[in-house]
Amino acid sequence: LSDKLSAAFKRLRAKGKLSESDIKEAMREVRLALLEADVSYKVAKDFVAQVSEKAIGAQVLESLTPAQQVIKIVNEELTALMGVSEVRLKSPKRPPAVVMMCGLQGAGKTTHSAKLANMLKKQGHRPLLVACDIYRPAAIEQLKVVGAKANTPVFEMGTASPVQIAKKALAHARDYGNDYVILDTAGRLHIDEQLMGELKDIKSTVEPSDILLVVDSMTGQDAVNVAKSFDDALGIDGVILTKLDGDTRGGAALSVRAVTGKPIKFVGMGEKLDDLEPFYPDRMASRILGMGDVLTLIEKAQTEVSQKDAEKMAEKLKKNSFDLNDLLDQMKQVKNMGSLQQVLSMLPGGNQISPDDIDERRLARIEAIIHSMTAKEREKPAIINPSRKRRIAAGSGTTVQDVNMLLRQFEQMQKLVKQFSHAPKHGKGRFGGM
Ligand code: GDP
Ligand code: MG
Repeated sequence: LSDKLSAAFKRLRAKGKLSESDIKEAMREVRLALLEADVSYKVAKDFVAQVSEKAIGAQVLESLTPAQQVIKIVNEELTALMGVSEVRLKSPKRPPAVVMMCGLQGAGKTTHSAKLANMLKKQGHRPLLVACDIYRPAAIEQLKVVGAKANTPVFEMGTASPVQIAKKALAHARDYGNDYVILDTAGRLHIDEQLMGELKDIKSTVEPSDILLVVDSMTGQDAVNVAKSFDDALGIDGVILTKLDGDTRGGAALSVRAVTGKPIKFVGMGEKLDDLEPFYPDRMASRILGMGDVLTLIEKAQTEVSQKDAEKMAEKLKKNSFDLNDLLDQMKQVKNMGSLQQVLSMLPGGNQISPDDIDERRLARIEAIIHSMTAKEREKPAIINPSRKRRIAAGSGTTVQDVNMLLRQFEQMQKLVKQFSHAPKHGKGRFGGM
């Protein structure tokens, strides 16, 4: 989606002064891009109508940077479409808070129950995981495994009825001082009466403070249909959108809110426990627009490196004085932040780098090459001539081709950084732009 949108905006920007028909043309492309991203027809149509109305206003066309204005409107409307502000878990007057996870089989309920527990734990809470999926023998075992990883106790009663299990778990939580109870319920391949009946029974018995529907973003519009059905039948409080790491289209993220009126509360970004993020519509909008998600990146960096380092990095990106020393630093931090691909996907333009370019094993080689350079060479890679290349290759146990490849890639990276650091400021506290 972001590739398509970037292309449409690039054409707009190339034009300078815009006419009404330029905007119409761009909006047609935006609508096609949305449809291709599996956004529902109605949502795409309403969205484009909304943006056009604002964009064709006289101020936009007559402003000095009309294309920027249009992009700004698209960004704002994308954000609004996904819900304006972030939403957290509810906290009931009387603990424990009961979070009921529901959804189809394979959506990621069990994984995300543990991720939530892990997150709550880090915030100082005392969650309890509850095994309400009694139909597959492996389900309880799976919850125990991920529960252990999250350092969270798992309450189970074998194949007793899920309603009974939920009820007993609540009593258990009160006795043991657990302030969050997370119910991992059973799923089905498709929505059926029996499943809904069971979920309704659990709901009326334990009165969850949050019913969270777990949906797989990779299923696109299907995810949205599932969300609508669950909301109609059961009533949900919010959505956890999983496997966003594998979703290149973004269609589900865009339409869930518009179709159900229910907020996306969290997004799953991978299989590991830490791959859970609160959902920020404004950040998702920038991600979709291909601006990258610099805020998330910096926040992620902050949890791993000091605030100061993160600021230094932001400053460097801004001033475009990013050199090979910084690349080496970043690579060290990246190792603590998740996969390089994850990190790159958050950088502006990073989604244009293909996964084939990112072989984690090659990272070690890159590090070795940079280590074999002198300080001067790292600061000014341009001075690296053929004889220096031979020296560096020999010193790092690599070949001149390896050195060349690194330098070429670094140059590409600098170009990306340049593109983004020359962009005008955009939005509050954000230094990224188009
Ligand atoms: P459940 O049937 O709804 O309980 O689904 P599970 O929690 O067992 O997850 C099904 C599969 O999806 C597992 O292999 C998970 O590792 C995987 N999975 C879950 N969430 C994510 C995610 O956010 N990203 C990725 N890449 N995989 C995920
Ligand atoms: Mg499960």
